[in-house]
Amino acid sequence: MNSKMNQPTGAQVIARALKNLGVTVIFGIVGIPIVEIAEEAINLGIRFIAFRNEQACSYAASVYGYITGTPGVCLVVGGPGVLHAMAGIGNASVNAFPLLVLAGSAETTLVTKGGFQEMDAISLLTPHTKLSVRPVSVDHTENAIYDAYRTCWYGRPGTTFVDLPADLIQGKATNISPSAGLQLVHAPPKPAGDPSVIFKVAQLLRSARAPLVVVGKGSAYARAEEPIRKLINSARLPFLPTPMGKGVVPDSHPLNTSSARSVALKNADVVLLLGARLNWILHFGEAPRWSPDVKIIQVDVHAEEIGRNSGSGELGIVGDIELVVDQLHRALGDWHYQPPSNSPTSYPALLSASATKNENKSQEKALQVTASGKFLTFQRAFHLIKTTLNSLSPPENGDIVYVSEGANTMDISRSAFPLQHPRQRLDAGTYATMGVGLGYIIAAHAAYNLPQPDGTLEAPSPKKIVALEGDSAFGFSAMEVETLARHQIPALIFVMNNSGVYHGDAKTEEDWRILQQETLSNETRVDEPTRSSTSDKKGLRSTSLLYETRYDRLASVCGGQGFFVRNEEELEKATRAGFAEKERFTIVNVIIEPGIGQTIEFGWQAAKKDKQGSKL
Ligand code: ADP
Ligand code: MG
Repeated sequence: MNSKMNQPTGAQVIARALKNLGVTVIFGIVGIPIVEIAEEAINLGIRFIAFRNEQACSYAASVYGYITGTPGVCLVVGGPGVLHAMAGIGNASVNAFPLLVLAGSAETTLVTKGGFQEMDAISLLTPHTKLSVRPVSVDHTENAIYDAYRTCWYGRPGTTFVDLPADLIQGKATNISPSAGLQLVHAPPKPAGDPSVIFKVAQLLRSARAPLVVVGKGSAYARAEEPIRKLINSARLPFLPTPMGKGVVPDSHPLNTSSARSVALKNADVVLLLGARLNWILHFGEAPRWSPDVKIIQVDVHAEEIGRNSGSGELGIVGDIELVVDQLHRALGDWHYQPPSNSPTSYPALLSASATKNENKSQEKALQVTASGKFLTFQRAFHLIKTTLNSLSPPENGDIVYVSEGANTMDISRSAFPLQHPRQRLDAGTYATMGVGLGYIIAAHAAYNLPQPDGTLEAPSPKKIVALEGDSAFGFSAMEVETLARHQIPALIFVMNNSGVYHGDAKTEEDWRILQQETLSNETRVDEPTRSSTSDKKGLRSTSLLYETRYDRLASVCGGQGFFVRNEEELEKATRAGFAEKERFTIVNVIIEPGIGQTIEFGWQAAKKDKQGSKL
């Protein structure tokens, strides 16, 4: 007789379901009652990476899905845990990363009574996920998890959510075989493009005067680098990667138009858009950044994306990039693009003139030391970091994964660090989210360095994770450095410290203290009218951070090594030391020019005047 005594608990069923799905790592933070799931998962050989804030673990799980091409799994407590994890849930949905979130919740019998951490997570998450479910009993749980795992992965990737009430986690199954068989979800089936549209689009490309291939992070996610490289090489098409599409085709490729971005966008007449949306990152595909007559061929796995903004239902191809690019290549045969003329106003000539101009400008900045010689600049520091890293590990090897977030830090590093391989640059993405950095480091380490116990995936070649963090961005999840130490993740983190968001307020600590005193006395003197409407308002601005915060010391108290760096020699030495570390993480606190008085600007915004050239 199958007595209930021998039946597994909900926690065991859940852990077993994850194991059967091939999950090898869970990103999370435990509490009652989900700790039981985590413990059972660990017992089954699944790695549980315990974070310090759900925000960071949800970010980590989201990008793990992007890097590995299989869903990331995040386990958190209910109520506040889900609220914190909302950050990663939104991030995964908006970036189209596959993410499965599991959370505890109050006992079903206590609903509406004010149970422990009670919150209606299903209602909260339904609009932000592809699927949000609460299994009705332990016996139904495995199927719910299986379906949520499949759904976040198939079609356009996104987030799914399974709500797990305490009574379900702690209760027992009534009719389940404890040794249920392996239930791997097959990788998503791949659709190919409509042959008649492929034919039409190939004709259009042949007739293009100024073609451009835009390579988005959907191409990186789709692992379509091989067919895309082949197509670009054989059809000799100029291409432009989006920030996370970098490396699908090596940045060093002669047809890369990154350093002539504005000119490429403005002049292209036929665009092949491979796994990128016509959103703010691509200025909606609209004038004035693009030609008003541009014809954009969208290739996307998600049918609803076709025709959005300046896309066209007629030219759009619904399909998997790998298959569609191969179809297009076959339709084009050995045709290759030949510019109509060699005149200085021809498309290739315009591209190359703009690239030369912008590259010279960046080179100048990279070699420039500030007038006073007192501060490093972003450009100078990145140049030194890059040349040092390149001397330690040639870029062709692709042994480094770059994580980058911050305003200037991300913007400037994008062009300062060319990439030769895909999925090795992780940044703030479609949501421009600050705070992803530490979670992304941990996820990249897990994806690239941890053995995959099931043998279903080969252990990939080990990679060093190098993070370029703005000082403000770093602060969003800085406590995760303790997670780095606990898991012996030897990440090399540069904190680009200008004592502020965008820029700092003072050149010396003394000046900064004066501003601080002005702020404090303004705040306390309520009887005096403030000088708010005039430009002579004194004190610290909303963008200010503490003057030259010693982030390096955070490393030393949390099990890492820290370097305080002010000049070129110190920066090079710290870079070398951090790169050599095999177990300890390193924080290099790089003091850079505060950039006082700089306007706060963001090159991507459409309203800005066209100065994009060197930004990628
Ligand atoms: P970027 O940030 O590089 O501009 P986006 O995130 O805007 O990229 O766009 C990525 C697109 O790629 C999404 O619209 C997504 O649906 C699509 N995509 C993801 N995987 C595939 C795939 N295998 N085949 C085709 N399109 C895909
Ligand atoms: Mg800053």
